[in-house]
Amino acid sequence: MNRTVSAPSARSARRRSLGAANPRILEALKRLAGETRRGRYAAAPVHLGPIENRETPFQVLVSCLISTRTRDQQTTRISRGLFAVAPTAEALASVSRARLTRLLYGAGFYRQKARQLRALARLLVERGGVPRGRDGLLALPGIGPKCANIVLASCFGAPAIAVDTHVHRISNRLGWVRTRAPQQTELRLTPKVPRRWRRRVNLLLVAHGQTVCKPLGPRCSGCVLLDLCPRRGLPKMTSVAKVSLSFRTRRA
Ligand code: SF4
Repeated sequence: MNRTVSAPSARSARRRSLGAANPRILEALKRLAGETRRGRYAAAPVHLGPIENRETPFQVLVSCLISTRTRDQQTTRISRGLFAVAPTAEALASVSRARLTRLLYGAGFYRQKARQLRALARLLVERGGVPRGRDGLLALPGIGPKCANIVLASCFGAPAIAVDTHVHRISNRLGWVRTRAPQQTELRLTPKVPRRWRRRVNLLLVAHGQTVCKPLGPRCSGCVLLDLCPRRGLPKMTSVAKVSLSFRTRRA
């Protein structure tokens, strides 16, 4: 009796958890994961962006705050220097503002970030660590939805999509969403991605965006997603690129 009731409800719960997952998105993510496995993104300037510095939730959070309006390479360099001096919230809270400003030099808005990081470190010490929920993270100084989701996904295993500039740009080019701001992208994209893939979306699209689908001059003719991509917002491919692509496809 129980079995006949529980089986359909388990199936419908699974369907709910999958949401209206889009098969084209799933196919694209699988291809990007394959590219990662084959080492095709090894040449990315900073393969994992802010997450590369992952040691603790505190360090992911701080690195993510530094990454705002800062190039990935700079974020990694500055984060490493900072964590050599202050690897924990307690240590960071005791660094003077002048020294912190020097350590952050090179990051966008580094003076403002020095203030935010001191306030952040003190709050984390008071509260006994990094909050594990989105609301708690968003209440911290300098932490927006992208950083909150990176911490939730990479440190606490939550099925959250961290939408940064790469995820926003590529999702729109691929026609997965049609949005103007990263926050809209997060809202529209999340239900279309199966839960078990959401944590990986940021890593996969950041690597793809650093190496292939660059902001300027995307390398569409060498892209594994070309047949799935309307290239929204980009000029039409030249006939030369199309010929070279069809030649490549025939040989594959
Ligand atoms: S085909 Fe071009 S626009 Fe589309 S994902 Fe690939 S590189 Fe980006």
